[in-house]
Amino acid sequence: LGSKLANALSSLSKHTVIDEEIMEDVLKEITKALLSADVNVQYVVQMKKNIVKAVDIDDLAGGINAKKMLEKAVFNELCNMLDGGDAKSEVKAKFVPKKGKPNVVMFVGLQGCGKTTTCTKYASYYARKGFKPALVCADTFRAGAFDQLKQNATKAKIPFYGSYTESDPAKIAAEGVQRFKEEKFDLIIVDTSGRHKQSEALFEEMRAVDEAVNPTMTIYTMDSSMGQMAKDQAEAFKSAVDVGAVIMTKTDGHSKGGGAIAAVAATKSPIIFVGTGEHLEDIEAFDTQPFVSRLLGLGDWQGLMEKLSDVVPEDQGQKLVDGITSGQFTMRLLYEQFQNITKMGPMSQVMSMIPGMADALPQGSERAGQAKIKRMLCLMDSMSDTELDTCNMKILTDKKRMIRIARGAGKTPQAYIELLEEFKRLAKMMKGMKGMKMPKEGSRGRG
Ligand code: GDP
Ligand code: MG
Repeated sequence: LGSKLANALSSLSKHTVIDEEIMEDVLKEITKALLSADVNVQYVVQMKKNIVKAVDIDDLAGGINAKKMLEKAVFNELCNMLDGGDAKSEVKAKFVPKKGKPNVVMFVGLQGCGKTTTCTKYASYYARKGFKPALVCADTFRAGAFDQLKQNATKAKIPFYGSYTESDPAKIAAEGVQRFKEEKFDLIIVDTSGRHKQSEALFEEMRAVDEAVNPTMTIYTMDSSMGQMAKDQAEAFKSAVDVGAVIMTKTDGHSKGGGAIAAVAATKSPIIFVGTGEHLEDIEAFDTQPFVSRLLGLGDWQGLMEKLSDVVPEDQGQKLVDGITSGQFTMRLLYEQFQNITKMGPMSQVMSMIPGMADALPQGSERAGQAKIKRMLCLMDSMSDTELDTCNMKILTDKKRMIRIARGAGKTPQAYIELLEEFKRLAKMMKGMKGMKMPKEGSRGRG
């Protein structure tokens, strides 16, 4: 989506005067980009209308800030759709379990969307915050469901309840919740079954479990790669049980997660967390603006800065950002950036935060991406200071230098060209962001 949208917007700069026809063309491209990111058709149409309303064609006419204005309008529209207009902090606070009370949280969602995994992540997230969580397995549909929950729970050191013989999920759920209430657990999490498809049998079962445990909150779990179906699916779940919040899983994958907008609108519930990997600690509180930035390919500065500050001294991180935003993108900055990335761990996660980086890697394979970065780092290792500190293509494409660098790194000239292409592409993009301001610290609290 990012690059498609960027293309649509940059076509604006070809025109000296922006009229309605050009605006219509650009909006058409933007619409296409949004649809390809799985934003539901209905919302795209609505968004288009809102954008037309939000930007004044006369203001656009000069063309000077047209790109920025449209970008901002799209950004705001997406944020509004995700916030449901009012899912601000006080609304989200409703979904924080209350200490000292027996909170009962039921997880629902299709099979495979990540419920069982997320239940355990959610439990340990709140265990770290001083809660006393417990897990109840009310999935009697999937063979091995109890074993899976048991394994996860044991790893996370969270008490659990389930049965190998009882086939009535409502009965198990009721028993488990009862037992943990008696034992004074204050966050009792009920994992339910899903089917491959939404079906009446599934919804009947959910209603039965719902009645049996009377949850204080129901969380709809959704796979972020869910496409145009996201809307119908979320609506179906909402009509069966009283969904109060959404957790979107697998945001570490390649999908941009536009389906989230549909899920939020259909359930009228905010997204409270996102799953960012298969491990226990891969869960993050949801934050609208960085998510939309990423959705639009604008990059998540704040998220990136947080990650950066974990691994590089503060002044260095700032230098990096200054370098990038001032448009003075040198080889050395790329070098430092890649070095940091290799320190920062799960790459797709980190890459998606750096503006434009998400597209820098071969799609599909994390390992291929790692190898590419290593290869580029190796080439940069064989560069001189002059070469590292320049953004001058004449120097970087000097034939003698090229041969020396590639040979010194034991790489092919093709590999060096690949590096240059990457550098050029990023440098161009960074230039486009010249003067961009970092988001203010804590302007929208994460976590
Ligand atoms: P359930 O059927 O809804 O209970 O789904 P599971 O919890 O069994 O998860 C299905 C698969 O998705 C498992 O292989 C999980 O490891 C994986 N999974 C769940 N959440 C995430 C996530 O945030 N990121 C990634 N990469 N995988 C996830
Ligand atoms: Mg499960």
